[in-house]
Amino acid sequence: MVNQTLLKRLEKYQQFHQEIYLCKKDQHEKLVKNPPITDAVILTCSDPRVLPSLTFLSEPGDEFVDQTLGNIFTENTAIAIRTGIMLKDVRLVLVMGHSDCYAMRCCLTPERVDPILGLHSHIAWGAERALKKVQGINPCDRHKKRALKTITQENIIDQVLKARDCIQQLSRTAKRPEIAQDTLVVGLYYDLETGALLVYRDWTGRKPQWLNADRVLG
Ligand SMILES: [Zn+2]
Repeated sequence: MVNQTLLKRLEKYQQFHQEIYLCKKDQHEKLVKNPPITDAVILTCSDPRVLPSLTFLSEPGDEFVDQTLGNIFTENTAIAIRTGIMLKDVRLVLVMGHSDCYAMRCCLTPERVDPILGLHSHIAWGAERALKKVQGINPCDRHKKRALKTITQENIIDQVLKARDCIQQLSRTAKRPEIAQDTLVVGLYYDLETGALLVYRDWTGRKPQWLNADRVLG
């Protein structure tokens, strides 16, 4: 039996190969002979609606991407960060969560999530800060959009702190203090519906706050 979904992917691949790959053939050949500069590691959610390469207009080679449900820091994230820093001199780590996150909804209303997914233990293991924050939210308000945004942002901050711990540890182990000094870890919140990107600015010495990306650039 022919799997229609597979056929669709292969047709898309043919289209990519003919319309994109062949137009940029030289650029793709250089990926192996003369690799481009990779300057970031991105940890984001596995949600299929989240495409960091689309959001940041990335080209092949631009960044390491680790996608986990709820953008929760895992051992794989640690390896991606260590590899990016030690082999590619990466000095930027982005942790990007998003609106309408199913994993974060699991924090708020676990009773609505099917245990068969195994999401509860994943969340319990990796999203301690978000779960603590849930306790302060009235059960009647937990289904509201505002509560989901709050929890998602708390979780992003939690994973930012874990990424920073990982970098501190690497810096000490490698006896290279400049790694910890120069590597920036930034939390981002992406709104799927509006395309707005909020940046958690907590590295300037001023009061940490979520700001629209335009304000950070300005
Ligand atoms: Zn998500």
